[in-house]
Amino acid sequence: MTDRYQSLAHNPIGKFVVKNLGLPNPPDLERWVEGSPFVKGTVLIGAAPTSTLGKKLNTTLKASGITTVGVRADSKRYKGLVFDATGIADTAGLALMQQFFTPALRSLASNGRLVVIGTLPEQATSETAAIAQRALEGFVRSAGKEVGGNGSTSNLVYVGAGSEDALGSTLEFLLSPKSAFVSGQVIRLGLTELVAPDAVADPAKPLAGKVALITGASRGLGAAMARTLHRDGASIIGLDVPGLSSELDAVMAELGGTSIAEDITADDAPKVIAKAVKAAHGGVDIVVHNAGITRDKRLKNMKTENWNLVIDISVGAPQRITAELLKQKLINTGGRVIGISSIAGIAGNNGQTSYGTAKAGVIGFVQDLSKRVAKDGITVNAIAPGFIETDMVKTMPLGIREAGRRLSSLSQGGLPIDVAEAIAWYANPGSSAISGNVVRVCGQALIGA
Ligand code: NAD
Repeated sequence: MTDRYQSLAHNPIGKFVVKNLGLPNPPDLERWVEGSPFVKGTVLIGAAPTSTLGKKLNTTLKASGITTVGVRADSKRYKGLVFDATGIADTAGLALMQQFFTPALRSLASNGRLVVIGTLPEQATSETAAIAQRALEGFVRSAGKEVGGNGSTSNLVYVGAGSEDALGSTLEFLLSPKSAFVSGQVIRLGLTELVAPDAVADPAKPLAGKVALITGASRGLGAAMARTLHRDGASIIGLDVPGLSSELDAVMAELGGTSIAEDITADDAPKVIAKAVKAAHGGVDIVVHNAGITRDKRLKNMKTENWNLVIDISVGAPQRITAELLKQKLINTGGRVIGISSIAGIAGNNGQTSYGTAKAGVIGFVQDLSKRVAKDGITVNAIAPGFIETDMVKTMPLGIREAGRRLSSLSQGGLPIDVAEAIAWYANPGSSAISGNVVRVCGQALIGA
C-alpha cells in the first residue's frame, strides 16, 4: 500500500512544512535492479592494524565486482564504509574504529552502507577482547540511528573461527540496495558446524538448479519471496490454503512453478507436502515457512481456539512439516530452512500475546534445529520483519499504522521485496556459514532488540 505521508513530504509545500515543523522526513530508499552491480560506487575499507582479515576482505569484495579503496580522498563520495575490527583486543582499541568513521562519514553518499566486521565475542582469546568485540554492537546500532536520515544503514558481521572465507554473500547483501531496509543488525557467521560455501556458477542466477518451497505464497511477502527466488534461478513450489488456490495458481503460472493447495495445520499436511515435493522435483533445497496469521486480542479477551491457531500456523506446523521432510530425506545437502518471525516475537507487542509467543517460538525453532542439522549441511535461520507494506497492515488503525511506519531509523515501512531479498541472501549457496541467526528487516524500528 502507498505511504501518503512520504509522498506529501516530498512535494515542494510538504518539504517546507516538514522542515519547519521538524517532522520525520522519510528518505527515498534505493532498491536493487536486476542486472545492476551490487554496489554503484566505491567502498572505502579500513582496519585495525592487528585485524585478521587483511587482504581476504579486498579479495572477497573484488570477487563480487565491488570497487574498493584503502585511502580516503576528501573530494570523493563513498557508497560503503567497511571497517575490519577483528583485531581490536581491548576497549582502548575501539578508538581506531571512531578514527576511521568520523572523517569518512562526511564522505558517505546517500543510501550508503556502514559495515563493521568483528570476531564472535564468545570465541575471543582474552576477556578484554571479548568485551571490546561485544561493544561493536552498540556502535553499529547507534551509528544506524545517525545515518538513517539519508537512507543509509549500519550493520555488524561477527566472523566465527573458520568462516573467514564465507563472507562474500553477506557483504554483497549488506553493501547493496538489496538490504535497503536492514539496519542495526548483527549477523553471526560460524555459530554451527561449518560447511564450506558452495561456489556460485552464475552470479546473476545464484539459485540455478535449486528448488524452493514457500508456504503462504499466493500473496504478500510469500508471493514476493517466490518471485525473488525465481529471479535468482530457483524452481518454485508454492503452497497456500485451498480457499486461495486460484490466486496461488496465478502466481505459480507466472513463475512456471508448482502449486500445493493445502492447509498446513491439517493432520495429513506433512505427508501431502512431502509427496508433492517428491513428485515435482525429487526433493527441495530451500523451505520458507512464511504462512502466518494474526488473531490479535488482549490476553484477558483471548479465545483458546484463536490462540492455538496462531501458534500452530506459525510454529507448530512448520516443525511437523520440516520433521517429515527431514525424515524422508527430502531436504537436499546444502539445504536452507527459513522461518518467519516478527519484531513482535523479539520485543513483544500490546494486544499480540498469541502472535508474540508464536513468533518467539519461530526463533526457538531455528536456534534448536540449526544445531541438529548442521552435520547434514543444512542451515536454519529466521527473518523477523518489522512494519512491511502488505494487506496485513491495511487493517491497522491509522494511528498505530503511522507510528509503525515512522518510529524507525528510516521513518517508513519496508516493502515485501526487502524481506524477499533477505530470504534470497540466506538461500544463497555462499551463505553456508550463516545458521541459527535471526535478522530483523525492520528499518531499525524502535520496537525490537
Ligand atoms: P498475508 O496475510 O498477506 O499472507 C500470509 C499467507 O499465509 C496468506 O496467503 C495465507 O493464506 C497463508 N496462510 C495462512 N494460514 C495458512 C494455513 N493454515 N495454511 C497455509 N497457508 C496459510 O501476510 P504477510 O504480510 O504476507 O505475512 C507473511 C508472513 O510474514 C507471516 O508469517 C507474518 O506473520 C509475517 N510478518 C509480516 C509482517 C508485515 O508487516 N506484513 C511483519 C512481521 C511478520
